[in-house]
Amino acid sequence: MKALVKETPAPGLTLREVDVREPGPGEILVKIRAASICGTDLHIWRWDHWAAGRLRPPVITGHEFAGVVEAVGPGVATPRVGDHVSLESHIVCHTCYQCRTGKGHICQNTRILGVDTDGGFAEYATVPAENAWVNPPDLPWEIAAVLEPFGNAVHTVYSGVGVEGRTVLVTGAGPIGLMAIAVARASGATLVVATDLQPYRLEFARRMGADRVVNVREEDPVEVVRELTGGQGVEVLLEFSGSERAIHQGLQALMPGGEARILGIPSDPIRFDLAGELVMRGITAVGIAGRRLYETWYQGSGLIYSGRVDLEPLITHRFAMADYREAFELLERGEGVKAVLYPDA
Ligand code: NAD
Repeated sequence: MKALVKETPAPGLTLREVDVREPGPGEILVKIRAASICGTDLHIWRWDHWAAGRLRPPVITGHEFAGVVEAVGPGVATPRVGDHVSLESHIVCHTCYQCRTGKGHICQNTRILGVDTDGGFAEYATVPAENAWVNPPDLPWEIAAVLEPFGNAVHTVYSGVGVEGRTVLVTGAGPIGLMAIAVARASGATLVVATDLQPYRLEFARRMGADRVVNVREEDPVEVVRELTGGQGVEVLLEFSGSERAIHQGLQALMPGGEARILGIPSDPIRFDLAGELVMRGITAVGIAGRRLYETWYQGSGLIYSGRVDLEPLITHRFAMADYREAFELLERGEGVKAVLYPDA
């Protein structure tokens, strides 16, 4: 089969022939129909500091993908051959404290498809059967592929006190922030303000349901939020930028007693005023990792299957897998939201 491989510890990816691995006990073989490119894949493409410290080439990249179950290994009852599946990218150990207490999303021994083990930029993937999420057969392949990052958004929006009847600030309108805007809108938030630096992304934020968008190069989001909330601040901050500046602004835009849910990952450690920004204002700050297994998948797929959230507008570009360079270069230029690769195109 053809696969996009990080072959050597250097920038770029290589499209080459690799063997299909037969599924072993507890595994399935998936014929991949669509795979979307994530920010993490761009780190791997560039071979930055994070990628160099984490990946052990050669590895088939890609962790957002969907396809048809082609074969099942010994002992696999579900899914079945022919099922249409999305894949949870985190392979968890089931033995650590977190796994055994219902918190597998923060398993201490997590291995990630396409990062620590072969992933989905390929014609086929052999993966644990338990990581498959079975979709209705009429769900479009590209929507099935992006259910994984969508789960990040759903997990963030539904944590803590949720968003129903609450005012919300979304910092960072990248793919996951944009998905979160749609979830917050569909889940009863009374005000959704979104920030970004890029007009292109803010236009999508409006389309996904933000009441007010703020280009932080032109306006101060803290002032905008205060104006819109009668000087109070918002009740919930959903952080998806990973930007130190945005994190400070988000915390300042929260009302005392508000809740900050932080999914964005800064590229370096950041400094903040613990007492002034958090402690004395009674802020609850929560780190959000991955998706709750598998509660988030039930919540997220429910929103998609019922039509309450439509992710189609975010699929801005489609490429045959052979044209992967074009796709990565486009995303590097910040020109798309979600680009999808089709292995059999
Ligand atoms: P992305 O990088 O495409 O989106 C980030 C957005 O933030 C961009 O649109 C960028 O223009 C915007 N931004 C940058 N500086 C800003 C500022 N000062 N104010 C407002 N907006 C600003 O990323 P994504 O794929 O949507 O992912 C969002 C974040 O979540 C990333 O940091 C990613 O590393 C992280 N992530 C975390 C997890 C997890 O499990 N915690 C999983 C996936 C991704």
